[in-house]
Amino acid sequence: MAEIITKGFLIARNDYQMFDEVITFINEFGNKFVCLAQGTKRIESHNARSMQLGNFCEFQFFLARNEDKMSRLMKINAIEKVEWPNFRQSLITLNSLAEQLIYPDTKNYKFYESMRKYALDKQISDAKAELIVLRNYCKITGIDLHVNDCVVCHNHHIKTISFERHGLLCGQCFDKLKGHEFSLEFSKLVFHLFKDEYSKMDKYEDHYIPLITHLKQYITDNNGTYFAKKKKRTI
Ligand SMILES: [Zn+2]
Repeated sequence: MAEIITKGFLIARNDYQMFDEVITFINEFGNKFVCLAQGTKRIESHNARSMQLGNFCEFQFFLARNEDKMSRLMKINAIEKVEWPNFRQSLITLNSLAEQLIYPDTKNYKFYESMRKYALDKQISDAKAELIVLRNYCKITGIDLHVNDCVVCHNHHIKTISFERHGLLCGQCFDKLKGHEFSLEFSKLVFHLFKDEYSKMDKYEDHYIPLITHLKQYITDNNGTYFAKKKKRTI
């Protein structure tokens, strides 16, 4: 094993045996590491104090050279913390998406870093931040919705959005193709989101939650990304 010190974001924690956890983090070069963190469920653990998800940390660990062995965390030090009251659904979604990014790439790190800013920005509603996270995840994983004009005939008289057709549809094409008819307002929200015109989304905030649901389904259907079911907090 080789000892490594690197900086990055803590994106996942999973229980392992009685007192241990398996943690995942992404470093500045976009490399993702999975490490065994021993004893972090013990009350006296120093490392546990730095282990809030989303924290920017310095990680000191032994990197396993052999794929059968697990890397082992020695020390974790939070450099920039996410305080619990600031922890929102948008950050949970971001962490779960970052955990599923496969190839190491600095653009994955940049994605996390820039989306974390939205997730922590209280000026932006949690639902809006989550939509921006989902849209940018689409961007880095190559999923796109055609919103310039009708995806079939390129007419500009838009009636609705079709996730099956991957874009906006005009009235004529919708009449031919059928499918679910989303409202024009909902379709306009998709338009602004996929044009990255986030400041123009606010008028349509009634549609934020339904769009989150549809976009998650769309992403799952297109690349198999899964989304954890919301857990009710019991404390
Ligand atoms: Zn058309």
